[in-house]
Amino acid sequence: MSSISFANIGSLVTNDETLGTGKIGELGGSGLQSAGMVIDNGRVTWVGNSADLPDADSRVDVGGQAIIPGFVDSHAHLMFAGDRAAEFSARMQGKPYSAGGIKTTVSATRAASDDELTANLRRLVAELHASGITTFETKSGYGLTVEDETRALRIAAAHTDETTFLGAHVVPAEFAERGQTGADEYVALVVGEMLAGAAEHAKWIDVFCDRGAFNLDQAREILTAGIAAGLAPRMHANQLENIGAIELAVELDCASADHCTHLSESDIELLAGSNTVATLLPGAEFSTRSPYPDARRLIDAGATVALATDCNPGSSYTTSMPFCIAVAVRDMGMSPDEALWSATAGGAAALRRKDVGHLGLGAAADFVILNAPSHQHLAYRPGVNLIGQTWRNGKPIEMQGHSHE
Ligand SMILES: [Zn+2]
Repeated sequence: MSSISFANIGSLVTNDETLGTGKIGELGGSGLQSAGMVIDNGRVTWVGNSADLPDADSRVDVGGQAIIPGFVDSHAHLMFAGDRAAEFSARMQGKPYSAGGIKTTVSATRAASDDELTANLRRLVAELHASGITTFETKSGYGLTVEDETRALRIAAAHTDETTFLGAHVVPAEFAERGQTGADEYVALVVGEMLAGAAEHAKWIDVFCDRGAFNLDQAREILTAGIAAGLAPRMHANQLENIGAIELAVELDCASADHCTHLSESDIELLAGSNTVATLLPGAEFSTRSPYPDARRLIDAGATVALATDCNPGSSYTTSMPFCIAVAVRDMGMSPDEALWSATAGGAAALRRKDVGHLGLGAAADFVILNAPSHQHLAYRPGVNLIGQTWRNGKPIEMQGHSHE
């Protein structure tokens, strides 16, 4: 591979606090002083003022547009079939969201062929790229049998390093109909045969610990078994209700506690004093017409906050990180700088990755050239597609419907 220089960057966000100004390390952005960047062999090798740009094998003039790190989507559920548009319509007309709707997608996913699941994943990954996402996590959780969870993770692992076993998404109907006994049997299956099949293809283990899903004792058993099998823990916590999941997430050193919609003061203190990232998923509150989490409280307390899409067919069917940023700024108390940081470096922290989510020296050359002079436009111009070009591993990703296998 050869080196490429980028000249006349109106605003370059590096997320390197030692560069530029503020927490996002923004360079350029004021009048004549535009920024420059050089990448080589898939890595960032130089950032500074455009006027000082070193020679490279080729040169791209960005013409005053902004460059930001590629978004890191640390929470998505992409291994599914079918959709739930009718359920969404009903909900918007007053029917409340509960964890039970997941069962519709479980039936469709079990009935789908491997090729259908793969094609749906590829379609969604193309959408992620088109929204500026360069690293994504995906969970299983719509198979809920040993075979279906294993195949979801096997297919996912061919498309991302960040695969998460979520056998404990919901107790499937064939177990739930037998009440507590059935639920106990399902947990035993998850920590036994299902985990054994999934572990080979998964990096993470996750549990939906909430009202109507898995309780604290079950969550502890499942996460502890996952850790023993070599997986790292993360959790769906406090989306619908506060049943004490944050304490467990921090105790088990989960990389991330996701949703964090209902938090007590002590939950916030616990998160702030831990390595557990609070991952906020505004698409879920938007699509279930629920109150948003309070990002401001978390940030002011010193917690690390990530923003992710939660893309799933039930409660957040969006692949758009700019949409999540706009909502976080408008309704969750975040500044445009904070929202951008959370959607990039915050997501990387939630995946415990140091190579992505920033454009400091040595970082992966994963970035977005915006059709805008600064990242502030992402929230300032909601619903407008400002993703000019998404680059990953030092190469532009072809979007616009060109398929290449
Ligand atoms: Zn989720």
